[in-house]
Amino acid sequence: MIVLNNEPLGKRTTFHIGGPAGKLYIPETEAELTKKAKEIYDRDHKVYVISGGSNLLINDKREFPEVIVMSKACKEMTQLKDGTFYFGASNRIQKVISFVNKLGYGGFEELIGLPALFGGIIYMNAGIGRESAPLFTISEFIDSVKALELETGKIVTLSAEECAFGHRTSVFKNNKYIILGAQITCREVDRGDAAARIQKRREHCKKNFEYGKGCFGSCFMRFCGPLLRTISTLYKKRIFKYSGKVKFASNNANWIYNEGGGTFDDAMKLIRQCKRLHKMTFQKLECEVIIWE
Ligand SMILES: Cc1cc2nc3c(=O)[nH]c(=O)nc-3n(C[C@H](O)[C@H](O)[C@H](O)COP(=O)(O)OP(=O)(O)OC[C@H]3O[C@@H](n4cnc5c(N)ncnc54)[C@H](O)[C@@H]3O)c2cc1C
Repeated sequence: MIVLNNEPLGKRTTFHIGGPAGKLYIPETEAELTKKAKEIYDRDHKVYVISGGSNLLINDKREFPEVIVMSKACKEMTQLKDGTFYFGASNRIQKVISFVNKLGYGGFEELIGLPALFGGIIYMNAGIGRESAPLFTISEFIDSVKALELETGKIVTLSAEECAFGHRTSVFKNNKYIILGAQITCREVDRGDAAARIQKRREHCKKNFEYGKGCFGSCFMRFCGPLLRTISTLYKKRIFKYSGKVKFASNNANWIYNEGGGTFDDAMKLIRQCKRLHKMTFQKLECEVIIWE
């Protein structure tokens, strides 16, 4: 297992913000991962885990004593039978898509633009489209998830139903499990069609994302669109006073960017203002980004 001391977590997230981990563990096998996670859980009852770091906003004013990085421990990729596969949680989603496409299967090609690992995709039930108009979510392909149950230290297999998937949520958000991998059943796809869907999504990302800036995708999973757009406009027109380096995206009020040198406080100021104004106007607001306060 790789152990790094005093390691800045900003380097490990796509938002590029976060204080140091006193000890950053990068287990290289599933056995190392489960042993270390159980040890931390028994002591602290909370295990901090980073996969792709693409949905994390981490406090930069504090240290996180122990953090586990998932990038190496669970790399298995196996076809179990036609269209049914097992993928370890540490595989990048791009590798998962490419693996199944080569064998004539797929169905979730549009996830190609997510800088995420398969375990993070499952935890968040990542997908494409709004709650009211979803194209798909990964849960549609999941048969079962293999996980470490932190309380008992047992390796368990949860059926799709037990995973309690919902819009950008799952049972794993209770932080009582470490996801080790999942069995999925894919659709048969024409390889040319799959490649075309990937190309189309890449073009969409190129056109809509401001590359080079820190970001974590959608900030909120439930919000009032018109209100969020108004808030973002009031910031852009400087009607709301604010001098931070985290800004609303120019073309999407639900995305905020770290323009460089932004801080956790900058991001939280924007998020808290959105929360305040939604509350004042009796609108629902729920964060999609996971915040480590
Ligand atoms: C440019 C960009 C585009 C995006 N587009 C989309 C999109 O179209 N659709 C969408 O749904 N999301 C999108 N996202 C958000 C993000 O990619 C997803 O939420 C993704 O599922 C997060 O995966 P990750 O591996 O980065 O997880 P991380 O950000 O590392 O972790 C997210 C949470 O999961 C927990 N976790 C991660 N792995 C495990 C594990 N193995 N066991 C237990 N807990 C774990 C972490 O502790 C954390 O709480 C986008 C993000 C970016 C930066």
